[in-house]
Amino acid sequence: MWSRRIVSYIKPNSPVQKILRGLSQVTKPKTVTSKGSDVHNFKIGENYHGFQVKDVKDITEFRITAIYLIHEKTKAQYLHLYRNDNNNVFSVNFRTTPMTSTGLPHILEHTVLCGSELFPVRDPFFKMLNRSLATFMNAMTGSDYTMYPFSTQNYSDYRNLQKIYLDAVFRPNLSELDFMQEGWRLEHTDPNEINTDIIIKGIVYNEMKGVFSENENILGQKLQNLILPDHTYGVISGGDPMEIPNLTWNDLKKFHVDHYHPSNCRIYSYGNFPLLPSLEYINNEYFIKYAHSLPSNTEVPKQKRWAEPKKEEISCRIDNLSENPEKQNTVSISLLLSDNTNIYETFLMQFLTELLIKGPNAPFYKSMIEPNFSGGFTPSTGFDGQPRDTILTVGLQGVKKEDFDKVVQLYEETINNVVENGFDPQHIESVLHRYELSIKHETSNFGLNLLFGLTPTWNHTEKIVSALEVNNLIDKLKTELKNNPNYLRDIIKQYFKDNKHRLILIMSPDKNFDSKLEKSEKQLIKKKTKGLTEKDKKIIFEKCQELQKQQTQPANTNILPTLVIDDISADVEKVDKVQVTVNNVQTQINRVNSNGIVYFKAILNTNDLSPEEQMQLPLFCYVINKLGTTRLNYREFDSLVTRKTAGLSFNNHIAESLFHLHTYEPGICISSYCLEKNVESMWDIWHQIFKISDIIDVQRFQMLVQLYVANLTHGIADAGHVYAMQAASSLVSGSAYQVELLSGLQHISYMKRLIHTSNYKAMLEEILNIGKILFDRKKMRVALNISPENQSDILHSYENFINNLPEAEKQLTPESESTYVTGKVWAPTDAIHCQHHVMNIPVSYCSKAVLSVPYTHPDFPKLSCLARLLSSKYLHPEIREKHGAYGGGARLRPDGVFSFYSYRDPRNLDTLNVFDNSHKWLQEHLDTITEQDIFEAKLGVFQAVDAPIPPSLKGCEEFLKRLTPDIKQRYRADLMAVEKDGLRLVADKYLGEKNVLNTGKVVIGPKDAKMDVTKRDDELWTVLDA
Ligand SMILES: [Zn+2]
Repeated sequence: MWSRRIVSYIKPNSPVQKILRGLSQVTKPKTVTSKGSDVHNFKIGENYHGFQVKDVKDITEFRITAIYLIHEKTKAQYLHLYRNDNNNVFSVNFRTTPMTSTGLPHILEHTVLCGSELFPVRDPFFKMLNRSLATFMNAMTGSDYTMYPFSTQNYSDYRNLQKIYLDAVFRPNLSELDFMQEGWRLEHTDPNEINTDIIIKGIVYNEMKGVFSENENILGQKLQNLILPDHTYGVISGGDPMEIPNLTWNDLKKFHVDHYHPSNCRIYSYGNFPLLPSLEYINNEYFIKYAHSLPSNTEVPKQKRWAEPKKEEISCRIDNLSENPEKQNTVSISLLLSDNTNIYETFLMQFLTELLIKGPNAPFYKSMIEPNFSGGFTPSTGFDGQPRDTILTVGLQGVKKEDFDKVVQLYEETINNVVENGFDPQHIESVLHRYELSIKHETSNFGLNLLFGLTPTWNHTEKIVSALEVNNLIDKLKTELKNNPNYLRDIIKQYFKDNKHRLILIMSPDKNFDSKLEKSEKQLIKKKTKGLTEKDKKIIFEKCQELQKQQTQPANTNILPTLVIDDISADVEKVDKVQVTVNNVQTQINRVNSNGIVYFKAILNTNDLSPEEQMQLPLFCYVINKLGTTRLNYREFDSLVTRKTAGLSFNNHIAESLFHLHTYEPGICISSYCLEKNVESMWDIWHQIFKISDIIDVQRFQMLVQLYVANLTHGIADAGHVYAMQAASSLVSGSAYQVELLSGLQHISYMKRLIHTSNYKAMLEEILNIGKILFDRKKMRVALNISPENQSDILHSYENFINNLPEAEKQLTPESESTYVTGKVWAPTDAIHCQHHVMNIPVSYCSKAVLSVPYTHPDFPKLSCLARLLSSKYLHPEIREKHGAYGGGARLRPDGVFSFYSYRDPRNLDTLNVFDNSHKWLQEHLDTITEQDIFEAKLGVFQAVDAPIPPSLKGCEEFLKRLTPDIKQRYRADLMAVEKDGLRLVADKYLGEKNVLNTGKVVIGPKDAKMDVTKRDDELWTVLDA
C-alpha cells in the first residue's frame, strides 16, 4: 500500500494530534494466552539481549509506561509502550528516502512480502491473513519511511507474525519474478501468444495509476513535491507510472541492502505482552549478525527556505460526475511551518491550524467559506505533519478562474486581521476542550494510532518519548497564553504573515488530460520495445510464462505458522446492560468503563416520512445542526456545542433485518458525547435541536447545500469497489436499494437534480418540516454508555431530558408502529440486470451481487466462509496476481448479498467472467480443498467478528441492529461447525445456474471501446453516463 500521508483513513495531523484523537479502551483479555507484562524489570542503563535501556517514563495521561532502548552493536532503536491493553502492536520501520520517482521504496515494500529465507512461500503475507486473528496487518510506504505494522490480541499470533515480518524485511528472497509481478514488466497482451503486442503490467504500476485517478491525490502529491523540492520530498516515493518502468531489479536489491539495515531501523511494540522475548529473538536471530552502518545516507536535511513566495499551475481530469468544468478549479495556499522534531513548536502549529480553519467561528471559515463563491475547503486543507518540515494548506475547490486572485487576497486579509485582533477567547476554549475530551475518549486501535502519530517525528529524531507527554504541551501553551495576551498574535505574525516560503498552487481540469497520458504511455512502451530483437522478445515471453507458472503453482503453506481452533474463543463477549423505559422511551443502558465520558445515541424512526422526504434525509443530517436554533444563531450554537461536547452527529440508519431479505429498519441515528460534568449542557443542546422550528437564514442554508453537493463525488475513485458493490447489491436487494438511494451513486444524481429544480427557500421549509415530524419522543429509542459509578446522577438528568422533549399530539400511524419495512427491487424476468456507470478514470471497479439468505438462516455462516475461501484461493490469485488489479475478492454482506468485487482493475468484462466462473472453479477444486483451508476461511471471518470494541460502542450492535448475544452465539457455533459438504451445498444452491436471476452486475469505469456488452448472453445492460 502507498499513501503520501500513509494510510488514507488517517487525517493529516501532527503526531500530537493523532495521539489525542486516538485513544483506546483497556480491553479484557479474551483468550488468556499472554504471559503477562515484564515492564517493571527494566532499569535505565541496564542491558537486555544486546539492547541498552536509555529511558523509562510513565505517561500518566495515557496510563502508559514507555521504555526506550538502543541496540548497542547496530544502534537500532526500540520503543516499547506498555499499557494494559490486549490489542498489542508490533512494527518494523525504516527510513527510506528515494531520490527518484521510480517507486523504489514502494516496490520494495511489496516485494519483501513475497517470501523469505525462513518462509520461502509465495506471498506469505497474504497467506498469513488467513492463518491469524490479527486485528490489523499491513505494510505502508510514506514519503520518507516504510513501515510494517500489525496488531493482535492473541499472544501466539503475535509471536508468529513477528517472525514472518522480521524475516521478510531482513532476509527477503527478492526474486526477479516477484519484482516483475509486484513492480512492472513487459508482457505480451496475450501472454500465451508471442505475436501479440507488448504492454506494461505490474501491481504497483497499476496501483499508482489508480492513486492518481483521484484528482485530490494529484493535488496533494504535487503540492508536496513543489513546496519541498530539494530532497526526497521532491519525488514520488510511491512511483510515477511514467517513471516506474525505469527501475531495475538490481536497483531494488541495492536499495534493500542500504536501507533495510538494523542501523536504519526503528522497532515499536505496544500493549501488555512481555518485551524480553521480543528483544531476545530480534537480537539472536538478526541484529547480532550485523555490524553498525552509518544511517546518515538516509537523513533528510531541512528544506532551504525561499526568499520569495512561488506560484505554480497544474492540470487534472475533468470530473464528469460533478458540476460544470468552469467551476472545477482548485486554488490552494501552503506555508512551510515547523521542524517536526521540535515537539512543542509543531504542537503549537497544529493548534493554530485548528483555530484558523475549523468550524464557523474560525477566521478562514468566516472569510473564505461564508461568501459562498466556491465549493468549500479542499480535503487537503489543514496541517500536514508528515514531512520533516510541516505544512499548512488552505485551499478552495470549485473556484471560477476569475476568482483566483480573490482567494489569495482573502487569505492575506484574514491573516492580517488575526495579527491585528487575535482570536475570540471562547473559540480558544473550544479547541482546548476538544483536546481534553479526546485524551479521555477511547478507541480500539490506540496502539496503532500512536505508532502512526509518532512515526513521522521518530523518523528524524531519537527524542521521541517526550512527544507522548501531551499534558505537558497543553500546560505549556496555557501558561504562555496566561503570561502574554499577545502570544498567539505574535506567533501568527512570525509563522504565517512574515513567512516567505509560501506556495500558491492552482489546479485546473484539462479535457485532454487522459489523451495526453495515454499518448505518453504509448511513447513509453515504444521506447521500451524499440530496440527489441526477436530474441529479446522471446526472452520476455519465456519469463512471463515462467511467472505464470509460478503464479498457478500451489504454494506449500505448511511451513507457515498458524493458529489452531482453540485459539478462537467459544463465547461472545457479554456487555453489562439493562433495558429501561423512561416516559415511553426505550433505553438501553450499557455499563462500561467510560473514563468519565457520557455517550448518547438515539434512533429516530423515519417511517412517517414520504418517499420524497426520505430521499432528503442525507441532506437533513448534514445541515440540521449547522443552522443555529431558535435561541442561538449558528455561530453561538456551534461555540456552545464545541465547548461542551465533542460535536453532534446525524447519520442515516438502515438496519437490515436479521430474519427477512429486503427488509430493514429506516431511521436516523443521532449521537454525541461529553465529559460527565457537562451532561446537563449536552441535554440542553439536544433540546434546542428538537425544538428547531423556523429558521429563516436561507442564505446560510443555500451555502450548506452547495458545500454538501460539492463534496459528494470526492473519494469515489479511492473507494470505487464500495460504490460498485453497493450499486450491484441494489439491483437484487430491497434494503440495499434503499441504501443506494441514500448514499450511493443514485444519491449523487438525486442531489444534482434537486439543486437544479428547487428554490432554496422551499427546500429549507421541507427540511425543517422533516425535523418537525422526526423530533418526537414517541419515535425515539436510546442507548447510553456510561460508567456504573455515576450512573444514578446521569440517569436522573437523563429522565428530565426525556420528560421535556416534544411529543407529537397525534397518535402514531400504523406505519410508525412497525419499525421495519420491506423494500422492492425492479429486475427483468429473463435476464441479468447490469449497469455501467461511466466515470472519467483510467481503471475500473467491477462487482457482481448474488442474493442469498438473511443473517439467521443456517446457510449464512457457510456462505461467509465460502466468500473467504473463494477470495484467497481463486479471486485474489486470478484478479490481482495474474491480471494486475490492485485487489479482488468476495464477501457476504449483512443484507444477505454475496458480493464479488475488483479494485483498481485494468480490465472490466473479463473480470466479470472471472466472477461467473467461481461456481465452475469450486466444482473442480473443492475436492482438493483441505481441512486447513476451511479452518483458515473461518479464521478470516472471526477476525472481523472478534475485532475489539471500544467502551463507546459496547452493546451498540444490539441497539442498532438488534443483534443480541444469543443470536451472535448461535452464528458463532454454526460457523465453527462449517464443513466441506456444507460449502458444496451453498455453492451449488446460490452461485450456480439455479440462482442466476437473483444476480446483478456493475462496472464503474471509463467509456471503453473494448467493453462490448452486446455480445454478452442473458445480460441486460444500462449505460449511465452523467
Ligand atoms: Zn502498494
